[in-house]
Amino acid sequence: MSDTPRETPAYDPQNIFAKIMRGEIPAFKVYEDDRVFAFLDIMPRAPGHTLVIPKAPARNILDIAPDDLAAVALVAQKVAKAGIAAFGADGVTLMQFSEPASGQEVYHLHIHVIPRVDGVPLKPAASVKEDMAVLAEHAERLKAALTA
Ligand code: AMP
Repeated sequence: MSDTPRETPAYDPQNIFAKIMRGEIPAFKVYEDDRVFAFLDIMPRAPGHTLVIPKAPARNILDIAPDDLAAVALVAQKVAKAGIAAFGADGVTLMQFSEPASGQEVYHLHIHVIPRVDGVPLKPAASVKEDMAVLAEHAERLKAALTA
């Protein structure tokens, strides 16, 4: 094992989440402010599974600017509380993957916020694409809880 730190690869502005933010690909947006954007995961591991991302280009935890990370974390907390209220959840799981070794698949930083119900296991990652009508209804529920 080398002691030399590896360089994080460059941010690619053509990643799918950058396209979602630019409106080039549709998504179920639940929250937006000047620094942060949040939308439903299309293959939710539980109802209400949301991805919170910075508007600034950042590949993952290794290259994001501290202020952007702080803004994303604050919104992740808001979404976590709203998810519990909107989905009658008992808890919430937050996950963030950085680089392929971790399981990261989309290279724009995102925090997964997943409402959890006692005794209900997570579905496997990226397994089943949810019905669009279900996602639309879940987005409305979450947006209502976020503005309550
Ligand atoms: P990660 O392994 O953390 O990079 O996870 C990427 C996540 O993005 C997975 O949970 C996917 O289900 C989700 N995903 C991929 N494409 C889309 C999309 N077009 N809209 C919403 N979520 C997506």
